[in-house]
Amino acid sequence: MNKNSIVIGVDIGGTNTVAGKIASDGTCVQKINFRTDVDDSAAFIEALKLTIQQLVESSSGTLAGIGMAAPAVNAREGVIEHSANLRWGKLPIVELIKRHFAVPVTIINDSNAAALGEMAFGSAKGLKHFMTVTLGTGLGVGIVVNRKLMEGAFGSAGELGHMILETNGRACGCSRNGCVETYVSATGLCRTVFELLSYSMEQSILRGVAYEDLTANRVYDAAMQNDRLAMQAFTRTGHYLGRMLANTVAAFDPEAIILTGGLMRAEELLMRPTIESFKQNALSFQQKRLRILRSNFTDGEGALLGAGSMVQHWDAINEMVQTEM
Ligand SMILES: [Zn+2]
Repeated sequence: MNKNSIVIGVDIGGTNTVAGKIASDGTCVQKINFRTDVDDSAAFIEALKLTIQQLVESSSGTLAGIGMAAPAVNAREGVIEHSANLRWGKLPIVELIKRHFAVPVTIINDSNAAALGEMAFGSAKGLKHFMTVTLGTGLGVGIVVNRKLMEGAFGSAGELGHMILETNGRACGCSRNGCVETYVSATGLCRTVFELLSYSMEQSILRGVAYEDLTANRVYDAAMQNDRLAMQAFTRTGHYLGRMLANTVAAFDPEAIILTGGLMRAEELLMRPTIESFKQNALSFQQKRLRILRSNFTDGEGALLGAGSMVQHWDAINEMVQTEM
């Protein structure tokens, strides 16, 4: 692949899809966002094809490959299936995109893509053992052991969002109760707000907001206006996250955990209680050496770059492998 080659990275989400043109040095030079048609897979594929085409045509470089990231991916078969938010059934997306672009096309789970992005271009550069925790609508984890993604025997390792944190806890989309992501995610935060509202008499900007209208951004805005209840919701979320990280570190002993995703917009509101709770709950010899970091990527870009890095023979990845040797 020469210096004029470009790779298209795509991050498919339950609300928006972002496609980006990645230069050979790993920088994302142009991005296009569009709303994901979660009900009509044919319309979605059409929109994706047009977006990729537009990115390729606006470039003087030649297309070397397309790397995509999405939730509920079977990477081996190149399909998206059993997604809670994308109602497409089983969608053979790699095959459908390959029909239109005669280049290598891959797809990978979005949490794993975030880990690859951090490893190639982000906060995990140079690390051998680390994890990324993506806090969005749900909670996704990518685990890297000895610079390799841990996939598991059947490709579904890293489902730590469904570790059970509370016995008889909140109902989860996986049809069980008390999973981490029902507490630690954008939706988990909103559920916590409602729980706090019902238990306390505290005045709050969020009192009177209907559940369907409450978003993590609204809770964040309230906390920024010193709304105590909103701040408390973040603190509680951080306490849950810290406890989950302590359990995770006991199992995997990583050098660092990188937190990313939309909820990390809250920065210190979430980081402070998370680190505090991690210290309270982790094994003493593990808590001292682990670093909990915030991703430096703007939201979504890590997964996009990581997905792009899956394209074979891509300079940046070749370089990374050589450094390793
Ligand atoms: Zn669950």
